[in-house]
Amino acid sequence: MPVPLFDPTSSQAPLRADIRAAVHRVLDSGHFILGPEVDAFETELAAYLGANHAVGVANGTDALTIALRALGVGPGDEVVVPSFTFWASAEAIPPTGAVPVFCDVDPDTLCVSAETVKAVLTPKTKAVIAVHLFGNVAPVAEIEALGVPVVEDAAQAAGSTSAGGRPGALGTIATFSFYPSKNLGAMGDGGAITCKDADVAERVRTLRFHGSADKVDYVDIGYNSRLDELQAAILRVQLPHLDKWGAARAAAGDAYAAALEGVVRLPRAAAGSRPAWHLYVIHHDEVDRLAGALAAAGIGARSYYRTPVHAQPPMAPWAPRVPLPATEQAARTHLAIPMSAALAPAQIAEVCEAVKSAVLPAR
Ligand SMILES: *Cc1c(COP(=O)(O)O)cnc(C)c1O
Repeated sequence: MPVPLFDPTSSQAPLRADIRAAVHRVLDSGHFILGPEVDAFETELAAYLGANHAVGVANGTDALTIALRALGVGPGDEVVVPSFTFWASAEAIPPTGAVPVFCDVDPDTLCVSAETVKAVLTPKTKAVIAVHLFGNVAPVAEIEALGVPVVEDAAQAAGSTSAGGRPGALGTIATFSFYPSKNLGAMGDGGAITCKDADVAERVRTLRFHGSADKVDYVDIGYNSRLDELQAAILRVQLPHLDKWGAARAAAGDAYAAALEGVVRLPRAAAGSRPAWHLYVIHHDEVDRLAGALAAAGIGARSYYRTPVHAQPPMAPWAPRVPLPATEQAARTHLAIPMSAALAPAQIAEVCEAVKSAVLPAR
């Protein structure tokens, strides 16, 4: 049986009647932008995360740009960001007027660390984007101890936990994406910003609404970037299931690790964390051959970040100032294998057999 790389619809299937009811509730209300569903979702998301404030926005990319603007990031500033991440983590920086400064990742966690950030800090550094890559948890407190605020890019880490709390409530401000394939997925685009400070939250609310409170008086050049009522209502149905889904992703990771230890290089959870793996990413020197063998066996597998962000042509003006050896190595060797909250033990066994027969010498 083929095993897909990801499968968001299976875990949503038991909720379809509730999702339909939520959609009908919004249709009947006739209220589509910034109404009771968004208000309620913001309250529920903040409570789930242990964050003081949550503000819905249109997507995870806008969330990053708006979060940076809310911290006062602008022209003349530098923002530290990893290069081994989804493009949007860095793409969100130039629209603020600031420049991206690329840093390396920790070779074990594939997240930024205090060490990799420290290597590129300058007096112009205004913020660090710490990506909780693949659901793993970056050491936000250690980075903020360097004296610079962190924007957590938690787009891939909904449902993960760590000793210091949940991603989204570990630092100054954090961003989420509810793109359909994420751990908490809408049925369209959506995003959110969470933060500690009430003044920062207020700036975020103003920025997402054209830099205004009322569309009469304007205090800033802002954005039209709102989470809509339909998506908020759909997300409210799913949020109570996120912990269960996160635990299922973590357990699937445990099953992979038990079967594949010593076969390929495995992802390592950051100390004290329990990642709700968004992607389960293994490493192998002959990654193309492995990917080909898995494809032939009907198993979804993909290398997402083969060209690191800094090496993509539009980032040419911001060439890295330090070598990025862990980034280059991860880009060359990584391969995501199937992961979802609905991955069955038989599917995991099938994937592991295919990986073993591709990389172990024939007996
Ligand atoms: C998906 C993602 C984003 C962007 O979110 P969108 O909602 O697609 O704009 C940003 N950062 C990371 C790490 C992501 O995975």
